[in-house]
Amino acid sequence: MDKATLRSLSRFFVLMLVAVLIGLIQGEILFYLLLALAGYLLWHLWHLYRFEAWVKGGAKEDTPDFPGAWGDIVSFIIRTKRRSRERKQRYKELIRQFRVSSSALPDGTVLLAKNNQIIWFNKAARGMLGLNKSSDRGQRIENLLRRPDFIEYLREESPKDRLVIPAPHEPGRHYSIELVPYGQAQGQRLMLIKDVTREVLSEKMRRDFVANASHELRTPLTVLTGYLESMHEDDSLDTCWSGPIEEMQTQTARMTEIVTDLLTLSRLEAPETVMESQPVNVVAMLSALRKNALAIPGCPATIEVEASSRARLLGDESDLYSAFGNLVENAVKYTPEDGRIRLCWSDGDKGSAVFSVSDTGLGIDAKDIPRVTERFYRVDKGRARNTGGTGLGLAIVNHVLNRHEAELSIASEQGTGSAFSCVFPAQRVLREE
Ligand code: ADP
Repeated sequence: MDKATLRSLSRFFVLMLVAVLIGLIQGEILFYLLLALAGYLLWHLWHLYRFEAWVKGGAKEDTPDFPGAWGDIVSFIIRTKRRSRERKQRYKELIRQFRVSSSALPDGTVLLAKNNQIIWFNKAARGMLGLNKSSDRGQRIENLLRRPDFIEYLREESPKDRLVIPAPHEPGRHYSIELVPYGQAQGQRLMLIKDVTREVLSEKMRRDFVANASHELRTPLTVLTGYLESMHEDDSLDTCWSGPIEEMQTQTARMTEIVTDLLTLSRLEAPETVMESQPVNVVAMLSALRKNALAIPGCPATIEVEASSRARLLGDESDLYSAFGNLVENAVKYTPEDGRIRLCWSDGDKGSAVFSVSDTGLGIDAKDIPRVTERFYRVDKGRARNTGGTGLGLAIVNHVLNRHEAELSIASEQGTGSAFSCVFPAQRVLREE
């Protein structure tokens, strides 16, 4: 029991005692007790009325004096109010600072509620997306930035990558958009907009440089190949030249292959390249792949083909053929003649379909598996030189699969063999009813 309650109780008992004493003297105990109780009640009712008026008046600090327990309640309310006012003030200052600092940010920030409604945006976002401070709050962002790729990106539950789009109001500029979930409420997201024009331009320059350099190398290589061919067939040349000429022919053929692969990669990387999408008969492709593989010198005699799925694939037939062909060619290159290769087209999980090439060849060490799709990455330089690879085959496969929303999974063990699987999502797979 606190002091204030003790004080109130002792006051009450003193009053009752006085009433009993007067009652004893006057011979009317009950009357005086009731009189004291009624007085006590009236006193409290009066202060209750004053208290109510004080609260309704806004519970101001310059309050009239309240006696006893009432005084304690009033000062408690004043203290709590003061604390909450100070807290509010602190939050206000924090919000003000957040707004000032986010206005100074060069990147755009938009707070999105569930249903992609705009809650707030900073100054940079206003300029970048052309948002209007007074009329665009509460609007849905997809109504203001109407692009199919952006709408698709908004729909993704947990987008992995950022989206790069041309700036809506500034031709020649590019913005990247990233969505980050925030806060407790479901569906709230922070949209971060960054100017990536420099990045996009330097990436384009790199692509153009590789494409142009490769293109320029084609003519000299054709001339060299032609001269070497004539020299090879020229009987008047001293026989001591036949070795170097053959070596030069091998090297020019390799360079031609590298140039061709680089041009293929540039074409696949170019965002403006439109992908053909038609139903592709993978089952028919399997036999053609097998036939081509058997024609490669040193190919293992056993190439099994298994087509447990009848599904067709929605995509670009020639790109898919070149990707699958690369995988088969690798299996041939890295499997000894007495080994086995297996080509498979089967149904996967959740409506997906899988094209896989497995072999009983050299295999790849676990540490190299994540890197084999990088350009020019070779597990073993000597091995690649002997087999005549360009180091670009799996990079091409990866690009083709990305364009088909598919993924490449690699399972391999050194000395045992490898399995390369291309997993195509359900939206790319056509199955007849
Ligand atoms: P390359 O033209 O050198 O074969 P790729 O990009 O096709 O280039 O492959 C990269 C590297 O991955 C190769 O150098 C090779 O070491 C390894 N590799 C690819 N496929 C296989 C396979 N089926 N078995 C063993 N190693 C492989």
